[in-house]
Amino acid sequence: MPKFETIAALSSAAGCGGISVIRVSGPQSKKIAKKITNRELKARNAHHCNFFMKSTTKKIDQGIVIFFPRPASFTGEDVIEFHTHGSPVVIDIMLETIVELGARLANPGEFTQRAFLNGKLDLSQAEAVADLIYASTRSAAYSATKSLDGALSQHASGLKDKLIKLRTHVEASLDFSDEEIDLLENTEIVKNIEAIDTVITNLIKSAKHGNLLKEGFKLVFIGAPNVGKSSLMNHFTGEETSIVTEVPGTTRDPITAELQIDGIPIKAVDTAGIRNSKNIVEAEGVRRAWGAIEKADVVLHIFDGTKKWTDIDKAIKKQAGKNKKYILIRNKIDLAEKINDEKSTTVNVSALTGEGIQGLKNAIKKLVTEVGAAEEGVFTARRRHIVALQNAKAAIERAQQLPMHAEIIAEELRVAQDSCSEITGEFTNDDLLGEIFSNFCIGK
Ligand code: GDP
Repeated sequence: MPKFETIAALSSAAGCGGISVIRVSGPQSKKIAKKITNRELKARNAHHCNFFMKSTTKKIDQGIVIFFPRPASFTGEDVIEFHTHGSPVVIDIMLETIVELGARLANPGEFTQRAFLNGKLDLSQAEAVADLIYASTRSAAYSATKSLDGALSQHASGLKDKLIKLRTHVEASLDFSDEEIDLLENTEIVKNIEAIDTVITNLIKSAKHGNLLKEGFKLVFIGAPNVGKSSLMNHFTGEETSIVTEVPGTTRDPITAELQIDGIPIKAVDTAGIRNSKNIVEAEGVRRAWGAIEKADVVLHIFDGTKKWTDIDKAIKKQAGKNKKYILIRNKIDLAEKINDEKSTTVNVSALTGEGIQGLKNAIKKLVTEVGAAEEGVFTARRRHIVALQNAKAAIERAQQLPMHAEIIAEELRVAQDSCSEITGEFTNDDLLGEIFSNFCIGK
C-alpha cells in the first residue's frame, strides 16, 4: 500500500443527520482542506469555515474543520476532519471535491489499517475497534473497549516476554556445553515452562470467554415435545420466533434468535422435541437437537411440571447434565404445584403467565458469569487469537515431552513466541491483514 496516497471517506453513518464527519488522511490532506476552506488551519483547533467546490467558487456548506498533524493523529498521518451538515447530497459533493483535489476514496478499514501500519495500534487493538463498532450489547462493548485499551495485547506481550527470557536462558545453557544438557536436572527451567503453560491455559480460558462475549453464548432449549420450549423461547425473544401449538413435533430444524440478558449477548436455539419418531423429518430434527446439546454453552432442559418425569428426560439429563452449564426448568407451574425445594436447583416457571421468568434469567446470568463473562472484567477475543494461543500451548507441551532436550525446548519456545506475536500483529501476513480490515466499515 503506497503510503503517499491521501484517502477520504464519510466516517459517520450514512443517511440524513444533524452532522456528518468526513475524514481525510495522508500528505495532501492539509492542502486539500486549505483549498476547500480558503483558510490556514492551526493544529487541533476547531475552525468554523465555509466549504467551497474546486471548479467553481460555489459554496457547498459551512461547518467545522479540525487538522490533526502527524504523528499525533488516529492514522499517524496528517488528518483532516470536516464536520458538515448531515446531508447525503452535501457529502457527495464534498467527497467529489476532495477527490478532484487529489485524494482517493478509502477502502473499508483503511484508516485503521494505516494506524496499524504506522504503529499507532497493534493488530488486536485494531480488531477491537471493529468489535466495538459492531458490539450488540453493553458487555460486548465494555470488553471491546478493554481490548482497545490493550488488555489482550498486554497479556500476549507479557507472555512473549516470559518466553523470550526463558529461551535466552535455555540457549545460554546450550552455549556452555557441547553435550546435551539433561534439563530434568535443571528444575528452574522445568518450573518456568510449567508456569508458562499455566499462564497460557488461563489466557486461553479468558480469550474463549471474551470470544463468547463477542459472538454470544449459545443457549439451547431442549426437552420432550409440548413441554413449552417454544413458548419459553418466545418469552426471551419478546416475539413469536418459534411456533407454539398443542400439536407435538412442530419445531423441526433448530430455530436461532439473537437476544440479550442484562447486556450479555445470547444466541438462543429452540430445538425439536426429543422423542422417538418414525417421521423421517422429525427424526432428523431430533438428531439435530441432540447435536445442539454438544455445541451449547448453556443447556436449558425444560420439562412439563404437570406430568411425570419421563425416560426421555432421564436421557436428556444424562447427556446434558454432564455439561456443568445446565439448568433444569419445570414449566407450566400455573397448572402444577410449585415445588419449593431449597436444595433443588430446578427453576420453576410458567411460560404462559411469565411467573419465574426473571428468576430463570438470573440463573442463566449467574451461570454465564461463572463461566467467565463477568460483565466488565473480560476483554474481547477473536477465534484467531484463541488459535494462536492454542498453538503456543501445543508448542509448550511439546517442549515438556520427555526426555527434555535443550535444543528442542529452545525451538518450541520460539514457536510459542511467534504465535504470541501473531496476536499483536508483529508476525503476520498480508492475507490476514486484508481479511481483517476488509471486514471493517468504510470510513473507519
Ligand atoms: P414445545 O413443543 O415444547 O415447543 O411446546 P410449546 O411451546 O409449543 O407449547 C406446547 C403447549 O403448551 C402450547 O399449547 C402452549 O400454549 C402450552 N404451554 C406452554 N407453556 C405453558 C405454561 O407455562 N402453562 C400452560 N398452561 N401452558 C403452556
